[in-house]
Amino acid sequence: MIFEGRNRVTSGFRLAARPNHNGIDIVGDDDKTVHAVAGGTVGFAGAVSKSAGGLTWQWGYYVRIDGNDGRKYYYCHLAAGSLRVRAGQRVQAGTALGTMGNTGYSFGAHTHFEVRNAYGTAIDPAGYAGVRNAVGTYTDATDKEDNDMKFLKVTSGKCEVFTAPDVNAVDKSYNGGKLIEGTCYPVQAEVGSSGGYSWVRIFVAGVQRYAAVLADRCRLVTLSPGDAFAACVAQGDAGGGAEELKAQLEAANARADAEARRADEADKRADAETQRADRAEAGEKRANEQAGAYLQRIESAKTALGV
Ligand SMILES: [Zn+2]
Repeated sequence: MIFEGRNRVTSGFRLAARPNHNGIDIVGDDDKTVHAVAGGTVGFAGAVSKSAGGLTWQWGYYVRIDGNDGRKYYYCHLAAGSLRVRAGQRVQAGTALGTMGNTGYSFGAHTHFEVRNAYGTAIDPAGYAGVRNAVGTYTDATDKEDNDMKFLKVTSGKCEVFTAPDVNAVDKSYNGGKLIEGTCYPVQAEVGSSGGYSWVRIFVAGVQRYAAVLADRCRLVTLSPGDAFAACVAQGDAGGGAEELKAQLEAANARADAEARRADEADKRADAETQRADRAEAGEKRANEQAGAYLQRIESAKTALGV
C-alpha cells in the first residue's frame, strides 16, 4: 500500500462524482510517507513549472516510476523538498518516495495516484494501491500478519508438556507427558524464562499447558493462515485464536482471489490489445495489397499506352 497503516480513499478513479478523475486520491491517516507500490526506475522526480506550459504542473511535486511491468506509476502532490528519489534510480515496492503534501492543483494534503498502461492510458489504479475503487479506509492485512500468532513446532519425541512453567510439573495425563512430534501447538503467551528455560504457554487438546523452548526439541514458528487455523482447531482453541485466524484466513483467501481476478483481467486486456494489433496488421496488409494492385494497373495501363 502507499501508506503504512490506514489508507483513506477520498476520491476514486472515474467514479460518477468525478468521471474525468484519472487517478485515485489517498490520504495516509497514520503515516505520511509515500511508498512505491511496484518496482521500477524513477522516470521523473520533481515539479513542472506552470509557466513552462507543462500540463503536469497540476501534480505539483511528483514522482513517476517506470514500472518493471511496463506501466507508469504517478505519485503526486508530494510535499516540497520531501522527495527521496532521483531520476534514474531503481526502486522496489515499498521504497519511500517522499511525503504526502498539497503541492500543485490540490486542496488538502493527499496523494493523487495514477497508473498508466504501456499505451499511456490511465487504468484503474485501486488494485495496485491495495485499496478498492471506492471512498473508504483500507489497511494492509499483511501488516497484521507480521504480529502473527506463534506456534510451538515439536521436532523431537522428547519434548515434555507441563502443567506449570516448572520442570517438576510434567503433565503425565497427556500422551505420557510428551508433546507429539511434528505437531504445532498454538502459543498463547511467551511467559519468559524460569529455572534457566524459556517457557511458553500453549494450547494442548483444549487446555492451557506449558513447554520449555529447547532448540533440540521444539521451536517457535509462524504458519500460513490455513495451517494456523487447522493447528488451532486441532488443539480445540476456541479462545479467540481460532476466530481471529479464521478471519485472517478469509482475508488471505479474498486477497488471493482478488489477485487472481486482477491477473485474469490483465490477461484479457493483453489479449484484447494483441487482437487489436493483429487487426491493425491485417488492415495494413490489405492496404499494401490494394496499393500493389493499383501499381500493377498503372503499369499495365502504361504498357497499353506504350509509355
Ligand atoms: Zn486526484
